[in-house]
Amino acid sequence: MSADTSLMPIPGPIDPVPVPRRVSSRADGKVALVGLSKEQIRAELEQAGMEPRQAKLRGKQIWHWVYNRGVTNFAQMSDIAKAQQPWLTERFVISRPNVVEAQVSSDGTRKWLLKTHDGHDFEMVFIPDADRGTLCVSSQVGCTLNCRFCHTGTMQLVRNLEPAEIVGQVMLARDALGEWPSQPEGRMLTNIVMMGMGEPLYNFENVRDALKIVMDGDGLGLSRRRITLSTSGVVPMMARAGEEIGVNLAVSLHAVTKEIRDEIVPLNRKYGIEQLLEACAAYPGANNARRITFEYVMLKDKNDSDQHARELVRLIRHYKLPAKVNLIPFNPWAGAAYECSTPERIRAFSNIIFEAGISAPVRTPRGRDIDAACGQLKTAAEKKRRSQSVRGTDENGGWSAAIPEAQTAA
Ligand code: SAH
Ligand code: SF4
Repeated sequence: MSADTSLMPIPGPIDPVPVPRRVSSRADGKVALVGLSKEQIRAELEQAGMEPRQAKLRGKQIWHWVYNRGVTNFAQMSDIAKAQQPWLTERFVISRPNVVEAQVSSDGTRKWLLKTHDGHDFEMVFIPDADRGTLCVSSQVGCTLNCRFCHTGTMQLVRNLEPAEIVGQVMLARDALGEWPSQPEGRMLTNIVMMGMGEPLYNFENVRDALKIVMDGDGLGLSRRRITLSTSGVVPMMARAGEEIGVNLAVSLHAVTKEIRDEIVPLNRKYGIEQLLEACAAYPGANNARRITFEYVMLKDKNDSDQHARELVRLIRHYKLPAKVNLIPFNPWAGAAYECSTPERIRAFSNIIFEAGISAPVRTPRGRDIDAACGQLKTAAEKKRRSQSVRGTDENGGWSAAIPEAQTAA
């Protein structure tokens, strides 16, 4: 099942995955507004023939209706003249990603299988807790990085999600939770983690542009302190992520020796542990109040010994990192080369880190009954399709709900 990763091309360091910047055209020729900045909306209005001063004013109004009020048609925009609404409707559209399937778990976890306008499936998960609600957002369809324990990495098809598809996930969740207009108090959706499908730093510009809209006080209004971006270690993009996005950082470390990390996170062959931890030490905005989260998936007899835990502590101290560690029980999928560590082993590992004064919570799986986590609903849907054509196909692919809790606001 595992690919020969030594032969795998890893996208280049500076501009890893080139993406078309132009708003993609729709089959009906209309321009989609979700995903556009205030300035881009103004420019599109002007390009459609609106007089510049009016485009500026209307751009501002439309921005507010779209991102703050969550409306999906121009007739709801009460401060825009009725006579102008048909002109807008003919040229523009305010849409969301298509929902293929939406499920709710007995523990309240919700999962959506979504489809892009060109027919690619991706997914999003919402995890409610007592004091917060975390949305796990995807950045790509599939992933090029082939981490050996990750099911997303085995998916053949990869495409960057556009800003519209990234912001669209958050807007869709707001629709489902009935949380319009955007307001700072009393909402269920309080945190966002970029921990769905894909490597966000290989889709840097789209992720950045989308998160800027999400963080805009007059847009979706979520504080950057409540947003966490998780990377498997795309070192050359980490400083830019800190400077241009400024959200919390989570790093998928998963191993403390070159040999093991090379095996389970192949990107390590390109950017090693030292380089990665140096980039963490230099991450703008990280301090004791805003710690870097190190994610560590617990793989039986692979990365889970006491010695590994002690080395993790040593590394964190050596690089003077304001860090916390999230221990993620491995979620097995058919064909995976690993098993999850035993609960006793995970506890012992956690204790060593904890006794060194570093927080090391173990993630509790959520939404098991709906296979709620990245890689699994899509697999379930594919399985259904396959079993309709290939009788007897049976697999329980994907991994379930190992989504670490997002950081709380400082
Ligand atoms: N590509 C980014 C973000 C998406 S993955 C990254 O790798 O950080 C989000 C987290 O889920 C990562 O820490 C990833 O390593 C972890 N993960 C992936 N597959 C898993 C599995 N089968 N069991 C447990 N955690 C897994
Ligand atoms: Fe990609 Fe992250 Fe999965 Fe690695 S763990 S294959 S980087 S999604």
